[in-house]
Amino acid sequence: MGDRQQTHQDDGDAEAVVFVCAACDSVLTAPLAPLPAVPEPPYYEWWNAEHPGPSPATISAGRYAVETEPYGAPLVVSATPGVEVMPRHGPMSDGQGQMLVSRGPRGNIVVDPADARGLELRHVSAACCGATPYGGMNQACAACGTLVATLCSDCCLPHELHFSAGHVRGVRP
Ligand SMILES: [Zn+2]
Ligand SMILES: [Zn+2]
Repeated sequence: MGDRQQTHQDDGDAEAVVFVCAACDSVLTAPLAPLPAVPEPPYYEWWNAEHPGPSPATISAGRYAVETEPYGAPLVVSATPGVEVMPRHGPMSDGQGQMLVSRGPRGNIVVDPADARGLELRHVSAACCGATPYGGMNQACAACGTLVATLCSDCCLPHELHFSAGHVRGVRP
């Protein structure tokens, strides 16, 4: 069993990439190895937390996964009752009884926010203590100013950083 785990670890390292800004080639992540899918976030009782702040990250350190569903802005009215607004976020109403659903891009690269490098927060849509994905991309490349990612870090939401697939490239470290 020990041997097998060692082999698996080596495979992960062999496939690791760093993501760089597509506009200016600045490195934006630590070396990351792929997961087959975005996992469910760790169970976390944010309402019982001693201090408000981000939940444990959905993605383990040193890993990334591709989100196959639409994510982030724009949000549009959905005809389907009970639908999740976007993966791992539950249902969301527009305040007038209409359910909202994401028409954002597919294919985001999801990472642990702690693995990001050289990003600046550009705006935060309304939240009690962190960033939400409901207003669109909110992370800019610090070197060139291009918006490249969406941070979700409010206490009651899954803690994830989503790089826009069209704004970054994976390269060998
Ligand atoms: Zn909060
Ligand atoms: Zn850049």
